[in-house]
Amino acid sequence: MTVTTPAPPDALERPTGPSLSPSRAADFKTCPLLFRYRTIDRLPERATADQVRGTLVHAVLEHLFDLPAAERTPEAAAALVAPQWSLLLEQEPELAALFDEAVTAEPVLDQMPSAEGARLAEFLRGAGALLEGYFAVEDPRRLEPAEREALVSTLVDDALLIRGYIDRLDVSPAGDLRVVDYKTGGAPREAFEGRALFQLKFYALVLWRTRGVVPKVLRLLYLKDAEVLDYSPDAEELERFERTLLALSEAIERAKRDHDFRPKPSRLCDWCSHHAFCPEFGGTVLPYPVTPVDTPAEVSADPLG
Ligand code: SF4
Repeated sequence: MTVTTPAPPDALERPTGPSLSPSRAADFKTCPLLFRYRTIDRLPERATADQVRGTLVHAVLEHLFDLPAAERTPEAAAALVAPQWSLLLEQEPELAALFDEAVTAEPVLDQMPSAEGARLAEFLRGAGALLEGYFAVEDPRRLEPAEREALVSTLVDDALLIRGYIDRLDVSPAGDLRVVDYKTGGAPREAFEGRALFQLKFYALVLWRTRGVVPKVLRLLYLKDAEVLDYSPDAEELERFERTLLALSEAIERAKRDHDFRPKPSRLCDWCSHHAFCPEFGGTVLPYPVTPVDTPAEVSADPLG
């Protein structure tokens, strides 16, 4: 289900103005050259099994809430894995390349003795383990989310369009908002926590500006570790965050004008696909594209999350 939160009327009609998604903003903070390769050059990146498993688990959790509350059991979630995987393969057949060959839309695991079948089985088992992690920290029978996979956007300072997808938004009877984000990555958590909180503050700012309510809780659910991290922002903090985003947007526009996107090595380089074109890894920076394929409204899932 996709729900679009009302934005200023002209916001979504401004395809050429500066705009930011949490992922792309975090990319620029992480490494300007990574931002350039992803957002301007649009270099292809092959999805990792962790990323695709994350997409699958997000889809299962989204559709779990289509069921009546009493039926949202671990067994019901496990039963959604194969059909959701089939749907993903229908939408993106190239994902089958993760297992090289012979990944069918209706996998019958015990009839696939090949290495590919074993890799698929391991992949699906991993999805099941993440769902177990989910049930260890939440009981979905007791929840009725207000929105799932909700696209939210707003215009900041009449100049910058910010937008992104929220995994889940819970609203209490008193009107308190809780923003929930599922983290499924296999990467060390501490390497990504700052990035994850940045993402949640981004959503909190959009909700505050569009609904006039500061979300009471920003919740990260780490499914692999079966852990919950709650954070409560306040209005002053979100105001500061807004100024940070405006400064970041100005820095991005400056970098585009000067074609100056420098590499900034960090632990996150381990997850970067562009070593061949990065001087930090002995590569040569690609010439700046003559016609940049800029994507200001990029809202894709965070490949590092
Ligand atoms: S390898 Fe590291 S420094 Fe180089 S582009 Fe990727 S993230 Fe940036």
